[in-house]
Amino acid sequence: MTIFDPYELTLRAPNHFSFGGLDRDVISREEPGCLDSILEHPETRIVPIWRSLNLFSKPLEKGVPPVPAYLSVKEATDLIKIAKVQVYLGKQTVANTPIAYLAIDISSLEEDEATIKLAPRGKFIDLREIGPLIGGVEGSIMAYARGMIYWHSRNGYCGVCGKATISTKGGHQRSCTRKGCTCLNFPRTDPAVIMLVTDGDRALLGRQKIWPEGLYSTLAGFVEPGETIEHAVAREVYEEAGIIVKNVIYQHSQPWPFPSSLMLGFTTEASTKKIKLNDAELEDAQWFTKSEMLNFKIQEKFLPRKVSVSRRLIDDWLSKN
Ligand SMILES: [Zn+2]
Repeated sequence: MTIFDPYELTLRAPNHFSFGGLDRDVISREEPGCLDSILEHPETRIVPIWRSLNLFSKPLEKGVPPVPAYLSVKEATDLIKIAKVQVYLGKQTVANTPIAYLAIDISSLEEDEATIKLAPRGKFIDLREIGPLIGGVEGSIMAYARGMIYWHSRNGYCGVCGKATISTKGGHQRSCTRKGCTCLNFPRTDPAVIMLVTDGDRALLGRQKIWPEGLYSTLAGFVEPGETIEHAVAREVYEEAGIIVKNVIYQHSQPWPFPSSLMLGFTTEASTKKIKLNDAELEDAQWFTKSEMLNFKIQEKFLPRKVSVSRRLIDDWLSKN
């Protein structure tokens, strides 16, 4: 049995990058010497991160998707010594044996060093580029590792007194080194709302100038301090398209640690219909009927990638009668 089975939690399939099957094992990471004890177990899996890139095994044949590459403690001995940061990600029980996952930051290696040292095991690739090609579970562990290491790389100094911070609690906290400064830093996640606005048989999609030509997607934006997520949905739709909405309903979420977002998917209904592009964010926004969306190819338009929350919101709506 998997801890926190997403199907049991929500009665629906998790989004891509949303379930890595790890028990995050908060109790162990609080214990002093947690990282040393993990490294004593030869079956521990090391997840190396080099400058925000993850390690993937080289595909044996052309057209075969790369597979996440984990290193054994023995293989990674030299890398562990030079790692700037180590993060205990959690554990998974396989055949009654708990296997720990440890992310390490080896960004201090020069590019050719990293390439040569890891060449027998694979190469470093940007997870965002190949995310849709790899399994959701392993992709989730890769995304989690990348997000944690990124957070460490941006929080080396105390935001209160400016002194250096050090990694503590198995890599899940950074503590200030200045005597008397009690400032603690925790990994942050930025909530972002993403919503499908409908009006009967049609839905609102927009596009940004920087997107590939023809791509239309749902509207989205970050939650601001002091507002609810439902309020953020209404505000973003009004800011971007001038539409007032009602009946905002949360659907599902997706961690998006590129670098640190959590996408919160919603459906909502339009109270007003006239589109008015209020800010410079969108190049275009239009109402599309289901039939128009299903025939997007004819208009040389296309929808976002299948692994995204936006596409799932659209597909769920399209499949409803
Ligand atoms: Zn401080």
